[in-house]
Amino acid sequence: MRTPIVAGNWKMHTVLEEAVALARGLRGPLSALRGVECVLCPPFISIAAVAAEMAGTPIRVGAQNCYVADQGAYTGEVSPRMLAALCQYVIVGHSERRQHFGEDDSLVNKKVHAALRNGLVPIVCVGENLAQNEAGQTGEVVARQVRGALADVPADAALVIAYEPVWAIGTGRPATGADANRVAALVREVLADLYGRDRADAARIQYGGSVNAKNCAEFFGQPEIDGALVGGASLKADEFVAIAGAAARPVVS
Ligand code: PEP
Repeated sequence: MRTPIVAGNWKMHTVLEEAVALARGLRGPLSALRGVECVLCPPFISIAAVAAEMAGTPIRVGAQNCYVADQGAYTGEVSPRMLAALCQYVIVGHSERRQHFGEDDSLVNKKVHAALRNGLVPIVCVGENLAQNEAGQTGEVVARQVRGALADVPADAALVIAYEPVWAIGTGRPATGADANRVAALVREVLADLYGRDRADAARIQYGGSVNAKNCAEFFGQPEIDGALVGGASLKADEFVAIAGAAARPVVS
């Protein structure tokens, strides 16, 4: 049984005070949930403060990006080594990074390795754009992105895959649960091909793209989907708590 994972990508929102206030609002209700892992991904400058707020709770903290090197003369970059001292997860290959900052599969792969080398769990984002979707290329694009991101990554690496169709991110136009499930199943087949069936069956695959408290049950009811990567709706405490609560699966003791 895979534990669902619901991560909030706060993107470039919240100044420090707002981030701390949001984290404080989430701490109690998210801590009370069982059968779901919750991850908060604030902007870099708020990670330390949000992590301090989450200390002693089961809530995890992540970054939204990292550089490929552990340290060095890379002005303005944030290394996975720095992040590992503060948090547990890092989002890698988000479509906004691919779109606005030219990140390709090769760079994403370097970031996955950098995260793993430093003990961070990468949340690896993959997903087709609208043109690719309309051209029937979703499977091919997503498989290529998964293989590219995971090149030379060992089978026992702890990681999460987030299937996020680009056309569904921030648009209020989510995929259907059935379509998202089909792509998640395909991702699992790629993992099975790379690492074997057992590893693939244990891997957690999130859906992301305009998930909110109203539509999340459609995704969480799908057998191949293990939680969500949530953007806009993660900035509202009540909404994010409702989504995380809906993702929770019964705890087998
Ligand atoms: C995201 O940022 O990964 C995302 C899925 O955003 P939204 O939920 O706003 O579509």
